Amino acid sequence: MYIVKAEANQVEKIVDMSVRGFETDVGVGGTPGVAVATAGHAVLLHAGAAARRGHQVILCEKGSAVGGILKGEQALPFKHEMYELAGTYRLLAQRAGVEIRLNTAVTPEYVEREAPDALIVAIGSKPLVPPIPGLEAARQEVLPVSSEAKLPSAQIEDLRRGTDGDNVIVVNDYYKHVDEVSDDVVVFGGGLAGCEIAVHLGMQGKKVHIVEMRDKLAPDANVRHRPLLLKEIDKYVTVHTSCKGKEVRQDGILCEDAEGNEVLIPGTTVICALGQLSRADEAAALMDSAPFVRVIGDASRVSTITNAVYWGYHAALDI
Ligand SMILES: Cc1cc2nc3c(=O)[nH]c(=O)nc-3n(C[C@H](O)[C@H](O)[C@H](O)COP(=O)(O)OP(=O)(O)OC[C@H]3O[C@@H](n4cnc5c(N)ncnc54)[C@H](O)[C@@H]3O)c2cc1C
Repeated sequence: MYIVKAEANQVEKIVDMSVRGFETDVGVGGTPGVAVATAGHAVLLHAGAAARRGHQVILCEKGSAVGGILKGEQALPFKHEMYELAGTYRLLAQRAGVEIRLNTAVTPEYVEREAPDALIVAIGSKPLVPPIPGLEAARQEVLPVSSEAKLPSAQIEDLRRGTDGDNVIVVNDYYKHVDEVSDDVVVFGGGLAGCEIAVHLGMQGKKVHIVEMRDKLAPDANVRHRPLLLKEIDKYVTVHTSCKGKEVRQDGILCEDAEGNEVLIPGTTVICALGQLSRADEAAALMDSAPFVRVIGDASRVSTITNAVYWGYHAALDI
């Protein structure tokens, strides 16, 4: 998030900055504007740009490292450069004078204490884990902390130890559970994230199936990337499209195929890659907390790095 003090005599300067872009050295004057941002790709790059324009920028990340969702890509060798991108952005931001606060969750109370002039909300998304039998433990882990349905952590542990759910790894967390993946894997969800992890595991010599209820894989992939990805899928993965997962079991996913038949797609580890949900509720709670608030990136609409960075650019121009 970025915060700017736009007093009457500064409007002209700000309009000038907007026309000329980021690389201007015109400051906002008076008390510097304070910007608070979360540390995904949507803001990392342009937090530095806002700082170069003279704003005091504070970038807050509730986790212990910047990089947002793509921290998970460190475990996929063919996406390691994408993971490293956040390191480059962080360096650029720090050089521009951005203060980075890790382990700092932005809440309405936090914003009230910091009293920024503008707030750029880039809190991203969380994994979509639907209420399908066998996904209970994974679902509990991704429910918002404030949710009344959230169980105490001891009960989540019980769920994990039980027959349901202890073989499920949410794709975003794969990098923390690399050694727990068996040699027979079913990837639940054939979007971009599901296809990439399936190829990665197939490259390791594991037997990999993908279960996807739509009739095609990775419609969300970039038009140039998708054909290359599908070629790799052909090499390493057994694909089950038009196949709806109904229950996750210890021995695989029980599905309904296009003809309505019940089929078991076998695998002793299930990677849950069923998509992402915007943190819309958390973003809505921050909407009135500063004079200027902009919600960008996946927090606004689940999308791509390109769009997240682009929206971050425009948010920085608007303050
Ligand atoms: C497995 C996977 C693979 C993907 N691969 C690609 C790809 O190859 N190419 C592509 O273009 N896109 C890809 N995407 C999508 C892309 O990662 C996202 O669109 C992009 O990262 C969104 O950036 P963001 O900054 O909006 O959110 P995020 O990257 O999610 O960052 C949000 C950050 O905000 C932090 N946060 C949340 N709440 C708070 C709070 N209250 N206070 C402080 N901090 C908070 C989070 O911890 C997180 O670090 C992929 C997504 C997934 C799940």
